Amino acid sequence: MIPYGRQDITQEDIDAVVEVLGSAFLTQGPLVPEFEGRVAGTCGAAHAVAVSSGTAALHLACLALGLGSGDRFWTSPITFVASANCALYCGAIVDFVDIDPETGNLSIAALTERLEWAEGEGLLPKVVMPVHFAGQPCDMAAVHALSRRFGFRIIEDATHALGATHDNRPVGSCRYSDITVFSFHPVKIITTGEGGMALTNDAALAARMSLLRSHGITRDPAEMTAPPEGKWCYEQQALGFNYRLTDLQAALGITQLDRLEGFVLRRRSLAVRYNGLLAGRLVSPLQREPYGVSSYHLYVVRLHGAVEDPGLRTRVFDCMRGRGIGVNVHYIPIPTQPWYREQGIGIGTYPGAMRYYREALTLPLWPGLREDEQDYIVTALSEALEHSG
Ligand SMILES: *Cc1c(COP(=O)(O)O)cnc(C)c1O
Repeated sequence: MIPYGRQDITQEDIDAVVEVLGSAFLTQGPLVPEFEGRVAGTCGAAHAVAVSSGTAALHLACLALGLGSGDRFWTSPITFVASANCALYCGAIVDFVDIDPETGNLSIAALTERLEWAEGEGLLPKVVMPVHFAGQPCDMAAVHALSRRFGFRIIEDATHALGATHDNRPVGSCRYSDITVFSFHPVKIITTGEGGMALTNDAALAARMSLLRSHGITRDPAEMTAPPEGKWCYEQQALGFNYRLTDLQAALGITQLDRLEGFVLRRRSLAVRYNGLLAGRLVSPLQREPYGVSSYHLYVVRLHGAVEDPGLRTRVFDCMRGRGIGVNVHYIPIPTQPWYREQGIGIGTYPGAMRYYREALTLPLWPGLREDEQDYIVTALSEALEHSG
């Protein structure tokens, strides 16, 4: 099976991890801060906090912004469940804002309309989380302008978008947000096995996330509430978690990050090649937004006629899987998940998201995908569309 996404591991990656195994620290050693510094430097952010997953980073980001019981949190319905679960962990009230089906990103028109309505009802969100879907940055300048007008904070779910740029700056610079989150899951742009990172330009938010990453414990005498009795002392100052990244993972992250530019260029050239090969067929790629360059985490096509014929996508999907091609669907709208329905979370209408969901199919895209494999995928898709249409 050709997977839809997969990691790219070299001997250099392997050597870096093996070297840590022989060192004094498997976790909480020198490589975690080094990795944090490298990612922050690459993205132009002042601070970075490495954690055990993208989900953990999203959770800490919500907590650092003070999201709590009864606060409102909005995100996209077309994202991985973690984008909304992180706010539910904090006791927040989660709701969803419709997407633009052409791009898969949050619709600025829908967000504006919703905010204007919520203002009148006294139901404004405390935090809004745009998701840079498939690696393509949302219109962050517009979201930022709305945050000024309506007084909400912004977390960017950039788990797809390491290596993307927005207004010629790297995603992660936090120019238009409080915190930006990356994931290093193996299908994402770079990997540490599991892992994630939260970037910010606000020292207090970074300090809060660092504290919560490790049980809410500090060992820094300068931060303690009372002078320590001895050098063994530590203080638990908040209820935190064990969300630490290991040095083994950080070592892999550092060598992976060295290849970030190459990964993104390869993904981009494969995506451009897909666009060319698929031109004139009964599918449309996601539309490109004018204000950013995608990292091409996912290559999604929308199948023509799939709204009118709800079985079409299933037939095409099964046909492709039957030929050994690991197509996928990103994502099932979160409010349609059974648990969300049972809890009555996000009950509303999302016509853009529902339309997008009916049509969407993710084709394989990762740096090691070969062009002959890509040709095979395109031929199989054309035949599947012919037989299924
Ligand atoms: C992968 C992903 C996450 C979660 O990241 P993990 O590292 O797997 O915890 C969150 N949001 C989106 C959109 C993702 O794709």
